[in-house]
Amino acid sequence: MKHVICYLCNSELKKDYVALNHKLLGRNINKYMCLSCLGDYLDCTVDDLLVKIEEFKEQGCALFK
Ligand SMILES: [Zn+2]
Repeated sequence: MKHVICYLCNSELKKDYVALNHKLLGRNINKYMCLSCLGDYLDCTVDDLLVKIEEFKEQGCALFK
């Protein structure tokens, strides 16, 4: 899998973060945000997003495999 970087701050995204972008913003996005930029965008904290990732994993979401 190719490296994905945040389009706002150029930091590298982990696989789970890319999956979270898809989960929250849709499957057809072509720009990705890191957790801190995503947090700003969605008006929530990085911790909130980390909790969400764990929740989606527990639900067995196919994006988080
Ligand atoms: Zn960023």
